[in-house]
Amino acid sequence: MQAIKDKHLVKTHSYINGQWHKSHSTFAVTNPATSKIITTVDNAGIVEANLAVRSAKSALQSWSAMSAHQRATILRNWFNLMVEHQDDLARILTLEQGKPLAEAKGEIAYGASFVEWFAEEGKRVYGDTIAAPSADKRIVVLKQAIGVVAAITPWNFPNAMIARKAAAALAAGCTFVVRPSEQTPLSALAMAELAHRAGIPEGVFNVVVGEDAKAIGEVLTQHPDVAKFTFTGSTAVGKTLIGQCASTVKKVSMELGGNAPFIVFDDADIDAAVDGAIASKYRNAGQTCVCSNRIFVDESVLAQFTEKFSQAVAKLKLGNGLEQTTDVGPMISAQAVSKVEQLVKSSVDEGATVILGGKVEPVGSSFYQPTILANVSPEMPIATNEIFGPVAPIIAFRGEAEVIAMANNTPYGLAAYFYARDIGRIWRVAEALEYGMVGINEGIISNAAAPFGGMKQSGNGREGSKYGLDDYLEVKYLCMGGLAK
Ligand code: NAP
Repeated sequence: MQAIKDKHLVKTHSYINGQWHKSHSTFAVTNPATSKIITTVDNAGIVEANLAVRSAKSALQSWSAMSAHQRATILRNWFNLMVEHQDDLARILTLEQGKPLAEAKGEIAYGASFVEWFAEEGKRVYGDTIAAPSADKRIVVLKQAIGVVAAITPWNFPNAMIARKAAAALAAGCTFVVRPSEQTPLSALAMAELAHRAGIPEGVFNVVVGEDAKAIGEVLTQHPDVAKFTFTGSTAVGKTLIGQCASTVKKVSMELGGNAPFIVFDDADIDAAVDGAIASKYRNAGQTCVCSNRIFVDESVLAQFTEKFSQAVAKLKLGNGLEQTTDVGPMISAQAVSKVEQLVKSSVDEGATVILGGKVEPVGSSFYQPTILANVSPEMPIATNEIFGPVAPIIAFRGEAEVIAMANNTPYGLAAYFYARDIGRIWRVAEALEYGMVGINEGIISNAAAPFGGMKQSGNGREGSKYGLDDYLEVKYLCMGGLAK
């Protein structure tokens, strides 16, 4: 914490109606690299969640009535402050989440890019005029802010998952309440401090930090004044929250889990495929929703790919994210490590072979070695579950048809990747994959200009891009009649 230059960015209370709100109890925030407590944070609950929704409701009328240009100016201030404080925000993020500092800086830039993007995009919300069926009528379509938006976000991208939602909501004219993961509240509160400095009016952006996810979640999903609920997290929790939203028929968008295939065809550039696999697998210690989860390799290039991939993974340095030399940081907790250990063990029991790593690192209980498993079959637990850790299972295949069937054989449909050169194959495979996002000869696919989101049980709605505002807008049709003389 000493290295943080602007100490006022470290906040420990919920931010509601433009003020820092005290609660009666506290909870601890822990550094996953050292298992040491960083600080304690006031523990908000149902009362604060209700208060935040009320504040957002009170602020809605004036915020939505502002011109998109006025809102853009304020959002642009927020973006500038995030860029200006990138180093401090990244350090706070690494301390509570664990990812290497360079990755944390990348996340702050990525999060800020959505604020910049939607500040601009908010000016381009267009309505429509439609030819009416009779001469004395006119049909006009308006797009209006949906209202109060509530959000729940996970710990793996504690800045960007909030920025991606809040920027779109605020640009559309909505007000916003977010409950971040209890494991990473500090990044969210630092964003609130910068929102305050940027001039975002009171009640427009609220952060409720508290341990009781279920209780706060019930307020945010069932409150009649919340018009739209947006969630990023696991599919299991997402399904529960969709159910809770039913009682008030909220508009819902969900960014849920994945089981991304990464396919290396026989005509692939193997070196590029190795680079792509490393980037898409080991970033954030394998804890991203778009991480490669099953690496399918054509059997004719299996030996070549496996050798080069193993050599490259062996060079990755595991360590505390604050150390310059670290490539892969800790996982979020010792429990997350045990889940991965269990998946590896049960797959090895079924015949998989550990060819690299496969152990908890002695430096700390939250560190799991970058691992490669060979001789994996698609039915093994490591291939059917979302691993969410630094383990790459390699599955051999023969031909396009077989691998497309295997890749699509999952309830998930978030991201997929493939490496090939033949242009006919590229089109066939891209169109056949049942995924919301497909990286073709590319392992890093997410940016503010592109629509991020999944198919099947990976969710609905899109974040970022020109489509990202739609989830925060209502379409209203005006029928103007009586025009005949
Ligand atoms: P999770 O258990 O679903 O938690 C996500 C968030 O929901 C956290 O803030 C959590 O709070 C909260 N939560 C948990 N149970 C809740 C309940 N009953 N009511 C209300 N809130 C509840 O997911 P996770 O393991 O932390 O995060 C990883 C998952 O997120 C993975 O499946 C990953 O694929 C997915 N993800 C998806 C995307 C995407 O864009 N599609 C992006 C990132 C992550 P606490 O943490 O405080 O318990």
